[in-house]
Amino acid sequence: MGVDCGSIGRTITGAHILCFHLGPTDGAQMIVQGGMHAREWITSLLVTRQAFTLRREKLPLGIYFLPMTNPDGCTLAQTGADVFPEHARRLITINGGEDFSLWKANLRGVDINCNFDAKWGSGRGNLTTPAPASYIGERPESEAETQALARLTRRIRPVMTVSYHALGREIYYEFGQTGEALARDRELGEMAAAYLGYTLVDGDLGSAGGYKDYCVGLGISALTIEIVGGDRTHPLSEPDLAQEEKNLWLPMILAEALKSS
Ligand SMILES: [Zn+2]
Repeated sequence: MGVDCGSIGRTITGAHILCFHLGPTDGAQMIVQGGMHAREWITSLLVTRQAFTLRREKLPLGIYFLPMTNPDGCTLAQTGADVFPEHARRLITINGGEDFSLWKANLRGVDINCNFDAKWGSGRGNLTTPAPASYIGERPESEAETQALARLTRRIRPVMTVSYHALGREIYYEFGQTGEALARDRELGEMAAAYLGYTLVDGDLGSAGGYKDYCVGLGISALTIEIVGGDRTHPLSEPDLAQEEKNLWLPMILAEALKSS
């Protein structure tokens, strides 16, 4: 039983978007991704630890773990703009200062979770110029990170995706699906919420262009999971993961539920 490591694409700086695969390569697959919003980089630690935790388990289906969908943004939020000399001046202008600890976007100031082809540009709070968060980009999938994840999703057609964000200990699953799909997805959301002790939120709250939204549009069950209690504020740091350890086993629990359904 091994771990396959690879890259699903590169950003404008050449950084790889890394991927670990566990479990069977044939048949049903899942995608678990984190680190899409720069300031939520602790979700990258969580997804890495999930893969490590589950590496010797007999998984009922294949799981692609993508710990850091936005590696440039996560680096920016943790270290500041000095490590990107070609981009630093523009980034500081967009950000209105040199403290990037609350930055969510990629290096082009595009919020990847508003850049997917899912009612693109119609979301509550969407912006149309580069910003630390909420800028939709020039067109759907204008960004290398969005393209890489959308391409992987279309290629492997997972039965389910899980997207990690922070904070609030809430789970979202809706994006206009109806009938059996809605019931199926709500059931998975309920299961995750009950296991984690999080709140399941009905409705899409004006979301558009998100990865979860994109997956639901393709008929794929998709959860957005916001870790860390709402009593905390950004920026978060590694100790905030201490209370979120139940998430380490969540992909296994969802995989077992999907396999038996
Ligand atoms: Zn987020």
